[in-house]
Amino acid sequence: MNYDHTIAEDGVGRRDRPTEFPAARFKHIDTWVFDLDNTLYPADCDLWPKIDQRITLFLVNLFGLDGISARALQKYYYRRYGATLRGLMEDHAIGAAEFLAFVHDIDRSSLNPNLSLAAAITALPGRKLILTNGSRDHALRTAEALGLAAMFDDIFDIVASDLLPKPAPLAYERFFRKHAIDPGKAAMFEDLDRNLVVPHEQGMTTVLIVPKPGQADHREPFEIPGGAALPHVDFATYDLEGFLADIAAARTSGRNAAGGRSRI
Ligand SMILES: [Mg+2]
Repeated sequence: MNYDHTIAEDGVGRRDRPTEFPAARFKHIDTWVFDLDNTLYPADCDLWPKIDQRITLFLVNLFGLDGISARALQKYYYRRYGATLRGLMEDHAIGAAEFLAFVHDIDRSSLNPNLSLAAAITALPGRKLILTNGSRDHALRTAEALGLAAMFDDIFDIVASDLLPKPAPLAYERFFRKHAIDPGKAAMFEDLDRNLVVPHEQGMTTVLIVPKPGQADHREPFEIPGGAALPHVDFATYDLEGFLADIAAARTSGRNAAGGRSRI
């Protein structure tokens, strides 16, 4: 493979430099899978912090905790179970519907329609699906605010996954089964590299979405790759629409569209 996916040592582990854009890796792809939060919208549009704060508030209300204790519990659950909801269900039998409605009840007015991303997704041949640890309603409303809802064939949310979040292998298994996905013919775009481990193992082509230099980074410290190469990440980019446009252009022209243009 003639590209370099070594994460550069810039202290935050968010660089990746494909030296060549290998369109061949996407030639056979017929299913395009996208994470939602911090993937289909940029990390600096402040949507994720709003959800994060609503989760803290849910725990404050539920347990009568102060904000700092609630926050600590939230982060413990997130790290241990992959999603706070899962921790609440395991430990306290909390109903999912109430939690999901509460934490996604946020102002989305900071989102603007992303016409270039809409065009890039439209240009991809095949199915387009959203795979999110959030709720379907949140994904739909967010995709609508971004002007992307019409581009997607379906949304596989945490409820469809029987409340089992990524990166649990069974969550992907359920997703593949429900949508009859051949992972060998599917690509996945996601901002958390640990959510790409199983997809890569299963044969998906994986693309990590990283923050632009200087852009807000909402990943937890443990989620930021620290200088090590990530063998489960085939590509990384902070320019999702440009990356997709290159894929579509290469497939249309039938040749490598890189032209030396690097996405990073
Ligand atoms: Mg995400």
